[in-house]
Amino acid sequence: LNVSRFLREHIRTVPDWPSTGVQFRDITPLLQDPQVFRVLADAFVHRYMAPGLRPDVVAGLDARGFIIGAVVAYALNVGFVPIRKKGKLPFTTVEETYELEYGNASVEIHTDAVTRGQRVLLIDDLVATGGTMLAGIKLLERLGAEVTECAAIVDLPELGGSGKVRASGHSLFTLVDFE
Ligand code: IMP
Repeated sequence: LNVSRFLREHIRTVPDWPSTGVQFRDITPLLQDPQVFRVLADAFVHRYMAPGLRPDVVAGLDARGFIIGAVVAYALNVGFVPIRKKGKLPFTTVEETYELEYGNASVEIHTDAVTRGQRVLLIDDLVATGGTMLAGIKLLERLGAEVTECAAIVDLPELGGSGKVRASGHSLFTLVDFE
């Protein structure tokens, strides 16, 4: 089984959503089919079970990063921490703001979500411009954690985000590329 090809065939492309000209890569069909969901989760679990790559904790990015991140954390028997869009977390937080095409976005993490020196796997569904992933990295590093790897189901390499994440000195693992 070619995992990348198999998963790609189950991603739905929605034209002109959320705005004209955008080809939205919709991963919900991967989650809906139990066999596909298992192939997806196992692809990450097998990689991060390896002793050198096994994290102490998994951090997931709001919101689809929670779904895959929580499953991977459970299978690895490590904890899961959420990085949320601004205004959702109840305890004390640190915040990172980053630029979007129009305006900004902010993400937050609880100040006690990770501890100094912890090895963290940071996971999301998709890397486009890289702004979200880079903001997540900054939050974790501000708290003294070590981001051992970033992971996503989908990379859109033409948007340059995966290049930016790697240029920042971080390792990025993705399962499917869409040109
Ligand atoms: P970036 O910050 O530009 O890399 O955008 C990545 C974030 O936006 C991720 O949290 C994704 O969930 C979301 N996103 C952007 N484009 C898409 C898409 O085509 N499909 C699914 N999610 C997307």
